[in-house]
Amino acid sequence: MKKLKDNNSTVRFALIVAAIFSILFPYLLCTHTKKGIRKDLSNSLRTVLNTTEQNLLMWIKAEEAIIKSWSLNNELISQEVNELLNSSQLHDDLVSSPVTLKLRKHFKPILESEGYKGFFIITPEYINIGSMRDANLGDESLIDKSLLERAFRGETFLTLPQESDVPLLNSAGKMVENYPTMFLVSPFKDNIGDVIAVMTFRIDPNLEFSKQLSLGKIGNTGETYAFNENAQLLSSIRFEDKLKEVGIVDKDKTSILELKIHNPGVNLVEDNNTLNANNYNDKPLTYMAQSATKGESGINLMGYLDYRGVNVIGAWKWNSEYNFGLATEIEFKEAYSTLLSLRYAMILTGLIGLSVIVAAYFYIRHSKDNERLSLEDGLTGIANRRMLDLTLKNEFNHSMRYKKPLSILMIDVDFFKSYNDVFGHLAGDDALRKIAMIIKNCVLRKSDLVARYGGEEFCVVLLDTISENAYNIAEKIREKVYTEKIHRNPIEGFEWITVSIGVKTLIVDENTDISTEIAQADTALYQAKNTGRNRTQIFKD
Ligand code: GH3
Ligand code: MG
Ligand code: MG
Repeated sequence: MKKLKDNNSTVRFALIVAAIFSILFPYLLCTHTKKGIRKDLSNSLRTVLNTTEQNLLMWIKAEEAIIKSWSLNNELISQEVNELLNSSQLHDDLVSSPVTLKLRKHFKPILESEGYKGFFIITPEYINIGSMRDANLGDESLIDKSLLERAFRGETFLTLPQESDVPLLNSAGKMVENYPTMFLVSPFKDNIGDVIAVMTFRIDPNLEFSKQLSLGKIGNTGETYAFNENAQLLSSIRFEDKLKEVGIVDKDKTSILELKIHNPGVNLVEDNNTLNANNYNDKPLTYMAQSATKGESGINLMGYLDYRGVNVIGAWKWNSEYNFGLATEIEFKEAYSTLLSLRYAMILTGLIGLSVIVAAYFYIRHSKDNERLSLEDGLTGIANRRMLDLTLKNEFNHSMRYKKPLSILMIDVDFFKSYNDVFGHLAGDDALRKIAMIIKNCVLRKSDLVARYGGEEFCVVLLDTISENAYNIAEKIREKVYTEKIHRNPIEGFEWITVSIGVKTLIVDENTDISTEIAQADTALYQAKNTGRNRTQIFKD
């Protein structure tokens, strides 16, 4: 029985170790992979952000170079510009002036080839004296005065998107008020190099400017976009249609300047939560926008909600030369898709591992139970005949190796048939249980075995016990059964239930046969029966 317990705890320990491993291994693998993936993502985001910024800056420089070359090679139009500067500069005069027509004819090819939406010639008093369209001729320029002053000081630059003063064509060909526009601005000099006017080209930020940023699209959900210090969008975005669907951006407009990068707090795209879209501008800026508009650069790989309320990771920076921010973001789900599938696989592996272990545990426990039960007598709880057979072999080997005596007691309840007949089988069972306990309590050494041999017969095997001591133990058992007065005995002259015991002591050698020894103990038992019962008899040849 002890051995059984030892085996049990070894198996239990092995199972616990296996269980820990089946959780720990997937966990460690995931953590390790997560670190690697994070590093890759961090590198990718920064690379995309920086490359996109470089592309954009190169494009801006190229555009500035174009207008610069135009304003420098100005002989072709200097006469017209001078004429307009010296005119009344009134709207009607400018509209009807043939010089205006000449200028427009002159600028048409460059506007078409470069995709510019218009041009302006602006006086030092900031009046538009030349334009492609009549509407703003003679009006004050919409371009910020401080910017125009920079141009009058000789600088060439590109302005960030701002709202137009005149209705402009949207991408669907519809005239829209306050449509965003950008200007390329350059000084216009006379023959001696003095700045006499400013020349500008109007640019649609939805086109080339946004196109440079669209190079920063990664995967299916990644994008790079620009924004100003008020967190207003400056370039077009990938999910504009969705924002129009939920009503954050006017259907006729573009998200440029219309969208401020707020965090709606819920996924507007998935939930189609128009109610939240209503209060959109009351929401805080996104994590990225809060940081970038403070002039900070940053990266977040843990995930935050973007302007749609979708969990993304991103990198951002602030360009102080042009005063805009740039962000590269990609949906968390897509970025970590490898990790997520690995995690699912690992969880599954862990679960399978655990269920195998749990199954193994129950299987082993069940078979141990079965094994224990198959070695135990159901009625009395002591060892059964099978256990006796198994143990006897070991005990015999022990006795042979150490040349120590071994004793066998065969115990049989007297007149038990009559007892059953008179008091019933249940009372008989009860008596057997009590007798089994009495025998067990009389046999104290751990190496001793008490077994139910069958029916109302018990067998006791005493290791290292000489005949005399075996007899004494047998007598103790016999007396105890009698004096305990378990139950009345139906046979006259036998007040209480009694047992008869046969004892056989031997020193085992190669020729010893177990069944012969048992049979001899039995013979002694029947000698005890025949000589009156409630007796102990030692086997004698
Ligand atoms: P003897 O003194 O010669 O041993 O007489 P006996 O009646 O005890 O012997 P016998 O072999 O004729 O009868 C044994 C009886 O033991 C038969 C059976 O009714 C009873 N017995 C055997 N196993 C059980 C058991 O598990 N429960 C009960 N209640 N009785 C049992
Ligand atoms: Mg019997
Ligand atoms: Mg009997």
